[in-house]
Amino acid sequence: MSEKENKYAYTKKTAWETFSKEQIKNAFLFAEDYKIFLNCAKTEREAIREIHDLAKKHKKHIILNREKAAAIIVPGKKPVHDGVRIVISHVDSPRLDLKQVPLYEDTESNLAMLETHYYGGIKNFHWLTIPLALHGVVVKKDGKKITFSLGAHENDPVFCVSDLLPHLSHEVQDQKKINEAIKGESLDIVVGNRPAKGSFKQKIKAAILDTLYKDYGLTEEDFISAELEAVPAYKARDVGFDRSLIGGYGQDDRVCAYAAARAILGVEKPLFTAIALFVDKEEIGSEGNATAQVNTFLRSLIKSLDPHVDVDGVMLKSTVVSADVNSAVTPNYTEVFELKNASVLGSGVTMSKYTGHGGKSGANDASAEYVGEIRTLLNKMKIPWQTGEIGKVDKGGGGTVAKYFARLGMEVVDLGVPVLSMHAPFEITSKVDVYSAYLAYKAFLTS
Ligand code: MN
Ligand code: MN
Repeated sequence: MSEKENKYAYTKKTAWETFSKEQIKNAFLFAEDYKIFLNCAKTEREAIREIHDLAKKHKKHIILNREKAAAIIVPGKKPVHDGVRIVISHVDSPRLDLKQVPLYEDTESNLAMLETHYYGGIKNFHWLTIPLALHGVVVKKDGKKITFSLGAHENDPVFCVSDLLPHLSHEVQDQKKINEAIKGESLDIVVGNRPAKGSFKQKIKAAILDTLYKDYGLTEEDFISAELEAVPAYKARDVGFDRSLIGGYGQDDRVCAYAAARAILGVEKPLFTAIALFVDKEEIGSEGNATAQVNTFLRSLIKSLDPHVDVDGVMLKSTVVSADVNSAVTPNYTEVFELKNASVLGSGVTMSKYTGHGGKSGANDASAEYVGEIRTLLNKMKIPWQTGEIGKVDKGGGGTVAKYFARLGMEVVDLGVPVLSMHAPFEITSKVDVYSAYLAYKAFLTS
């Protein structure tokens, strides 16, 4: 006889068991669209552009904050006065930004290089010897802005951070601690080798400057007013014999952003006004004018829906889902997770009551009442979900934008997709979790 669980016990099921055959098929179809989005949205600006185009295509109302944040809004049957429903996600991801004066010639190695300054929490060694594309914008001397994208297409050249061969790395790398072996300052990318003809001081650099002017009308000073980001050049792919997983760059947090965008596109006449917010700079602490901390954007948005409404009063009555990713239990490193309270790939969207580090420091700790509401909703709609804490107590930690909404008096809880290899240039998600997040956001926005 097989052993039974007590009927009052909490048991975690996988989404593969909870979903019907039809739903799993839909999850796979959803993943196809999602991979296309990932390939088109390698930067925060590109993500906002894609979300903007999706909204326009579906005749949804969208407001932009610069080119880096946006809100899709669907008015509810109840007045704004009664509060709104918000799903908030971020569209920036860790990467290598170019410095302001990036171009130099390394005469010893005979190469032209670009200096970078990493953005967000990266493990430096991840960025060595992978093909990189350069995406972003440059504002030229005459004030004209050009959109730059090189490396994403099959016939484009790519760029790369080089590494030392194992034959020589014993002393300078192998014997050091992993985060000291590869210095942030050394993450420069290789951009050329062919010298210019003529009597220049630095012939390779001179040739690259000629090419940049010829192809894009760029001069060296133009790099100063630019946002150029080195991002993985490869496309998102299915992972596994069973194609159950998605591998790709920038899934933190574009997976939740895409799921939230798709969710609100399908929302018609909700009870409460539904808002999907997309913000920038989460990976560097949400500082900046297009971030989750800029509540003036949200305030003006609420005012635009009803000029006479008491905005603070609306905020106090509003509920929020912070749609950000969670760490998935990682094979070979399970010792840093407390497994009863960690999320795993394939068990659905992850609800985190709190984040933070140490004694929940820096966390939004959602109320039992609100967690109860969301739990009831997910169960009622039969959406696979699980709980998730980033890791063992005092092993590390992290935070999301949830706290910035809690400060405004809103109820807010984290609900996002578990990610394997989070912040690596090739992050992995499960197709059923992505689909669960989409269903969860839609259920929340229409509740
Ligand atoms: Mn995130
Ligand atoms: Mn992150």
